Amino acid sequence: MKVISDLNQLALVDRSLAAVWHPCTQMKHHESFPLIAITKGKGPWLYDEQGNALLDCISSWWTNLFGHSNPHINQAIINQLKKIEHVMLAGFTHPPVVELSEKLSALTAGNLGHIFYASDGASAVEIALKMSHHYWQLNHKPQKKKFVCLQNGYHGETLGALAVTDVAIFRQAYGSLLQDVFTVSSPDARKAKSGERPEDIAQQAAQELEKLFAAEHEHIAAIIVEPLVQCAGQMAMHSPEYLRLVRALCDRYDIHLIADEIAVGCGRTGTFFACEHAGIWPDFLTLSKGISGGYLPLSLCMTTERIYSAFYSDQTQYGFLHSHSYTGNPLACAAALACLEIFESEKVLEKNQMRSHDLANAFIWAKTDSRIEHLRQQGMILAFDVRTEYLKDASAFPREMFSKSLSEGMLIRPIANTIYVMPPYILSTEECIQMGNSVQYALEKTLA
Ligand SMILES: *Cc1c(COP(=O)(O)O)cnc(C)c1O
Repeated sequence: MKVISDLNQLALVDRSLAAVWHPCTQMKHHESFPLIAITKGKGPWLYDEQGNALLDCISSWWTNLFGHSNPHINQAIINQLKKIEHVMLAGFTHPPVVELSEKLSALTAGNLGHIFYASDGASAVEIALKMSHHYWQLNHKPQKKKFVCLQNGYHGETLGALAVTDVAIFRQAYGSLLQDVFTVSSPDARKAKSGERPEDIAQQAAQELEKLFAAEHEHIAAIIVEPLVQCAGQMAMHSPEYLRLVRALCDRYDIHLIADEIAVGCGRTGTFFACEHAGIWPDFLTLSKGISGGYLPLSLCMTTERIYSAFYSDQTQYGFLHSHSYTGNPLACAAALACLEIFESEKVLEKNQMRSHDLANAFIWAKTDSRIEHLRQQGMILAFDVRTEYLKDASAFPREMFSKSLSEGMLIRPIANTIYVMPPYILSTEECIQMGNSVQYALEKTLA
């Protein structure tokens, strides 16, 4: 199947390259590497102008949960559109934002019952960082202002979020703009030597963290982690034991725990919130990506009564004076509510257990392929690494693998030598097997 670079598509693609500056892209690469124009989507499939189909194995950058053009979500947005499309949230409120906040709070059993809204993931991270910082000022500990982050972590690309991000290529050019942070070892289970379990790696990482907390806790506001999976960091997975240990250390040293669930929240890891695997709640929890089902920009930061009440005062300047124009947009909240309805009515978390077995089965071939290591899975994320000695040109590998997958009618985007799939929660068993076979075939062609 020919998916890309058909002649009559060039016009739109060329116009895009002339006028649109694409994200996360060296634009010159598009001289040799085609851009794809998508005109339609249905379920897990994306279609170009010629009607060629691409299976969206990465949920359009991890956002899509229930397929493209989902009838239930479409209808919810249409219904909301007939009522009110947007109204500012300062001094005003509206039914979708109230209902969404109540439902999300209930999903944490009220532990994180105060919810602050923004539009994109990075902004939700900024909010968590600023709230933590401000909280310590309000509590007369203004010296507690440094953040701790993990090696290989990713929290977005605005300046505050980038400061706690440890992905060299995103930081390189902006180092002098970024605040100083403490960076500690990742509990990445791939570090386990023979005989070691993921829990051992978690304990080692937590021991290192404890040393830092013991020495510096008077200067530390918060630690930010991606629970269970460092997604942008090559889908590095860790034991939930790490989250339990960090929670205990944060309690002991009076440091906030920020759980960035922008990628791993909304059922991705098997439970609605990834933190549930560890049986802990953070002080701040950020969501975005899947929360609106991949429909509209929506992000939020959930926090506790303890944090909220610290800001509650007669003094204006003690309030959390942060805002975005589209904070709590009604259409986006309606889409999110429709997603939560689907979670309930279709018993999504239950069915995802079967779907994650399908996923494991579809990639069973990778277990015995000697060119592959660290086959790993957490719920609806499956990843493996291609041993670098099999890569002729490691820097070209992700793009080559991407191209070969397109020819197989599949959208995947490897990160360095890591191939992963993170599909919407609607693949049939057949589509899942097709995905596994196509990845195998594309890999064979890429390594040939
Ligand atoms: C994607 C992501 C972000 C940033 O979200 P944007 O909407 O791209 O700004 C932050 N944290 C994590 C863990 C992410 O995966």
